[in-house]
Amino acid sequence: MNDEKQHILLIEDEINLARGISFNLEQEGFRVSHAESGEDALEKLSYYRFSLIILDIMLPGIDGFSVCSLIRKLDARVPILILSARAEEGDRITGLASGADDYLTKPFNLDEFLLRVGGMLRRSSWYRPEPVEEGYSFGDNEVFLLSYHARTAQGEIDLTDLEVKIGRGMGILFGS
Ligand code: CA
Repeated sequence: MNDEKQHILLIEDEINLARGISFNLEQEGFRVSHAESGEDALEKLSYYRFSLIILDIMLPGIDGFSVCSLIRKLDARVPILILSARAEEGDRITGLASGADDYLTKPFNLDEFLLRVGGMLRRSSWYRPEPVEEGYSFGDNEVFLLSYHARTAQGEIDLTDLEVKIGRGMGILFGS
């Protein structure tokens, strides 16, 4: 089990609203990073992996729809919730077409907001199973370089660091 806090990126230029949202998400047990612009958000995205992104549309610099499309190019699966002061149908469609998963109009009800965030995180975890480590096969042997063990005709054996380094070298030779 991974008990690390889920990390949410909040992209919002209205400081008071951002403080309120961050406070409430932290109360729910999330870790929150705040970006005041799309540019700031894209920089943070190059350093961290987020469980969910909350995105305002009216931002200084690049607008939220463009930020949404750019995020989708970097990560096809991270859930994106758009928060917009504009309730027009066209904005909602543009938001969803830019790759957002959900759309909420400001001002919003805090409980509804938190429920949506929780629901989006649950759905994204269904689609994201634990990665299965692939082994390299050599005859009857299968070597797992990430978890430092091998399956051989003699049974499971642990690998020393040196063997793992040699194995990685072989993986490179085989172009894998
Ligand atoms: Ca704004």
